[in-house]
Amino acid sequence: MPLNRDGAMTVTAPWTCPTCSTTVSTPYCPQCGERPLRASELTLRGILSQLTQAFTSIDGRLIRSFRYLISRPGFLTVAHLQGQRKAYVGPLPLFLIANALFFAAESLTGGRVFTTPIGSHLHTQPWSPIAESLVSHRLAAIQTTLDAYAPVFDRAVARNARSLIVFMALSFVAAPAIAFYRNRMPLGAHVFFSLHLYAFLLLLFCIATAVPALDLWFGGAGFASDGLDHLISTALLLACGAYLYVATERAYGVTGMNRLFKVVALTVAVASIVLGYRFVLLLITLYTT
Ligand SMILES: [Zn+2]
Repeated sequence: MPLNRDGAMTVTAPWTCPTCSTTVSTPYCPQCGERPLRASELTLRGILSQLTQAFTSIDGRLIRSFRYLISRPGFLTVAHLQGQRKAYVGPLPLFLIANALFFAAESLTGGRVFTTPIGSHLHTQPWSPIAESLVSHRLAAIQTTLDAYAPVFDRAVARNARSLIVFMALSFVAAPAIAFYRNRMPLGAHVFFSLHLYAFLLLLFCIATAVPALDLWFGGAGFASDGLDHLISTALLLACGAYLYVATERAYGVTGMNRLFKVVALTVAVASIVLGYRFVLLLITLYTT
C-alpha cells in the first residue's frame, strides 16, 4: 500500500465513524468520507489554520479555474466530464462567480451591457414597432405617462438584465445540443459547455463595460457613442468566435470545415440570444413594473 505524507492511504488505528457508527481503519471513512476529529483542531491555533486553509484552497481552485477558462477554452468542460471535480470550481459556481464579477464591474463603471432603456426599445431596436404598441397599451392600463414611467422602467430593466443572465446561458444549451447532435453526448455535457462559454463571455463583458468608462474618463462620448458600441460588439463577437473555435475542438472533437461552419453557427446563436434576451427583458420589465 503506497504511503504519502497526507496519510491518504495509510492504515491508522481503528476508530468508530460518528456518522455511520462502523469501525474504520483508514484515515477517512470509506462510507461517508468522515475523518476522526483531532484534539488540535479544537484549539484556537487549529481553528485559525483551518480558516486559512479554507480560504487558500478556494482561491487556488478559483484562480486555476479562471486561468484555464481563459487560456484553454473547452478544457474545464472536458475535465469536469471526466470527473475531475476536486481541482476546479464546478461550471455553475464558476458561472455565478463570473456573473457576480460582471455585476460588480457594471456597478463600478455605470455600464449597461444588456440594459436597454425604454427610449432605445421604442426607437432603435429591430422590435421597436412592437415595443411602441406594447408600451402604449401598458401605459393606458396602469394610467401613467411615458415621462413618469421611463425612469421606473429603466431602473427595473437594469436590475433584471443582471439577475437573469443565467437564463441566457441556459437557452444557449440548445445550440451545441443541435450542432453536435451526432456526438450523442448527454445533455449535461452541453449545459457545462454553455456555462463555461458564458462564464468566459461575462469576463469579456467586464472588460467591455470598462472600455466606454475609460473613454468617458478621457473625454470621449463613452456609453453614448454608437461607433464605440459597434466596435466593442464586433470585438466581442470575434473573441466569442475564437473561443468557440478552440473550445469546440477540445470538447466535441470537431475538425476541418465542419468546425468552421459550426463555430459560425454557434456565434450567430450567441448574438441572437443577446438580442432575444433584450426583447424578453422588455416584456418581463414591462409587465412587472
Ligand atoms: Zn462514515
